[in-house]
Amino acid sequence: MNTLVTGGSGLVGCTIESEFKPTSKELNLLNYEAIHSYLADNKIDSIIHCAAKVGGVKENKENPADFFYENSMMTMNLIEAARVFEVKKIVCLLSTCIFPHEADYPLTVEQIHNGEPHPSNYGYGFAKRMTEINARAYREQYGMNIVTVVPCNIYGPNDNFNMNSGHVIPGLIHKCYKALEEKTDFEIWGTGKPYREFLYSSDAGNIAQWALENYNEPEPLIVSPDEEINIAVLAQQIAWQMGFKGNIVFNQELDGMFRKPSDNSKFKSLLPNYEFVTIENGLTRTIAWFIDNYDKGNIRL
Ligand code: GDP
Repeated sequence: MNTLVTGGSGLVGCTIESEFKPTSKELNLLNYEAIHSYLADNKIDSIIHCAAKVGGVKENKENPADFFYENSMMTMNLIEAARVFEVKKIVCLLSTCIFPHEADYPLTVEQIHNGEPHPSNYGYGFAKRMTEINARAYREQYGMNIVTVVPCNIYGPNDNFNMNSGHVIPGLIHKCYKALEEKTDFEIWGTGKPYREFLYSSDAGNIAQWALENYNEPEPLIVSPDEEINIAVLAQQIAWQMGFKGNIVFNQELDGMFRKPSDNSKFKSLLPNYEFVTIENGLTRTIAWFIDNYDKGNIRL
């Protein structure tokens, strides 16, 4: 089976093996014609759609239009072209950012459309939420097998480690590295009080591949470990693993959503023995990768 992996060089895409992993330069998903000719030239049976414009809370707050436009367009173009070329199966990766910021916990799929996403990332949140509509409508009208997977915050090697635009784990690893190097304080955004669930990138990749072969239901599949981690505790864990013994300071602004605990009961019933990479282990691997690649200039910044 020929599987096109979009975002093949990104955080999740790089963990998935496939002959068909064009870079964004080779296949610009914002351009419908480019996808059309790619599918005309390559016999693609299925797609794992990992490509997305992603960023941390600051980047999302500053550029809601770009996040909305790029994520909506990429997915709409891809699904429409896949329809034309009769692609048999598509797995789309969404995000727990799609949920309303005022919702009952745990976040369940029934609540997806019940209110606005958090104001800090509504551009991204609404665009990703619309992927569920996109999949549902094409399934209903054209009988396409499009499934949606909703992972919590993903991290790992090859992430965007930019301290301004990256997510919390790569951002904090980079900041801690700098604080060690420059003997300064280690600055955390916000109060440190929010909680997040984290998924290691290869787990996200494994589960996307599992979904390609095994999951065919219209209902979005939430994927998250049981554990919620407090941001201050996460920062301490990173400092400890990196050997930082200086001050950890909180700048009080930019907390984003307070919690996003998600309902993983369906995932657990389908894959009861799946063992997620633990946060300790995932951080160790990510920090080692960062340190190894920083001096070589291989870090995406
Ligand atoms: P979010 O889940 O979409 O809010 O994504 P983020 O990964 O950007 O942020 C998660 C939480 O970590 C938020 O509460 C941030 O305020 C907090 N945080 C603390 N320090 C940092 C940092 O250096 N970078 C980022 N991105 N978030 C940070």
